[in-house]
Amino acid sequence: MAQESRRLAFNTRAIHAGEAPDPATGASAPNLVMSTTFVTDPGASFSAEDFGEATPFIYTRWGNPTVDQLERKLASLEEAEACIAFGSGMAAITALFFHVLKPGDHLIISDVTYAATAEFSKDFLPRLGIEVTKVDMSDARNVAAALRGNTRLIYAESPANPLIRLTDILAVGKLAREAKALFAVDSTFATPVATRPLRLGADFVLHSLTKYLGGHGDAIGGAILGGRSALAEIKKGIAIRTGGILSPFNAWLIMRGIATLSIRMKAHQEGASAVAAFLEGHPKVKRVIYPGLASHPQHALARRQMDNFSGMLTFQVADGPAAARVLAERLEVIHYAVSLGHHRSLVFYLATEDMLRTSFALGPEAEASYRSFAGDGIFRFSAGLEDPRDLCEDLDRALAAIS
Ligand SMILES: *Cc1c(COP(=O)(O)O)cnc(C)c1O
Repeated sequence: MAQESRRLAFNTRAIHAGEAPDPATGASAPNLVMSTTFVTDPGASFSAEDFGEATPFIYTRWGNPTVDQLERKLASLEEAEACIAFGSGMAAITALFFHVLKPGDHLIISDVTYAATAEFSKDFLPRLGIEVTKVDMSDARNVAAALRGNTRLIYAESPANPLIRLTDILAVGKLAREAKALFAVDSTFATPVATRPLRLGADFVLHSLTKYLGGHGDAIGGAILGGRSALAEIKKGIAIRTGGILSPFNAWLIMRGIATLSIRMKAHQEGASAVAAFLEGHPKVKRVIYPGLASHPQHALARRQMDNFSGMLTFQVADGPAAARVLAERLEVIHYAVSLGHHRSLVFYLATEDMLRTSFALGPEAEASYRSFAGDGIFRFSAGLEDPRDLCEDLDRALAAIS
């Protein structure tokens, strides 16, 4: 496609890549094709084995024109050869594990990741005969120390949910190459506006499209991006067969969200910076973690690795559980809810004891690192696109009510 062969700027690609006016009607906006099946010629194969890039649309679990447009757009933004969209971020992440890992393989994974990723790697992968080592990936030396002859995959999340702790992608990518292991990065918090992990040495990038890429809290989706041949294997071997595919309607919504990704990320950063500065000066707030603050323990890495500090921050107060009850009741603009990356601001309290019990079974050293970012618990705050003054006032009002 013309837009992809020329080097257009990121914003232009966010709008045009993957799309083209409909040849039949001239429609400028992408068509929403909800058809599950497509009229084919009688020679069409019915096995995923025969699936290739030239395969026409046959059945939407195999491929769909609207989902295809989204995949091309995402590939362009992450500077990837190929992309597969999935029905959720977790469908994408587990598909990658199933593709890369087999019994006897060793996985090195960040000890803090999105909770479902942490739980899947802790509880499920070992049952398949996969050895799992969890390391604190804020220090690449921990990855080097954990490498073994059978290490097949290194998996990072940067910034990691919920700590907003970073991994040096360039450094870990180098270790992975030397060890002949594959390297995957969940870049949901960063988005391609901030960081392009493939350029820094990752083999795969993962996204929960539910968050910043969709951006409006109304469509769950996920994606894997990487090299053409690996992604073709994932498509044939996993995506078509396990079937966790993205609905065309969600693809259409997410594509519409991506058109404004750059300007939204600018505004998310602006909102988060204003809220972070406000909270850092608030007498009832003990600690604020935001990559854009000089006080973030990895601020230098954030400046190197992130072109945008994104909209995620955490803060700590003296009595988190009590404050959570007050915030849930008193906040008027900000929603007390999980998820993130939406145009609406969201806040949610994550007690350290709970997280360590349910998601992250950490050793003493890793627990110390966790606590150095989270204390006894954090409010994870996702700055939306409201006026930052209204966000600060909302928080100020609610914080005034905590004892
Ligand atoms: C939300 C999230 C996921 C999971 O995505 P779903 O779309 O909810 O399945 C994975 N990784 C990160 C970093 C997330 O924030």
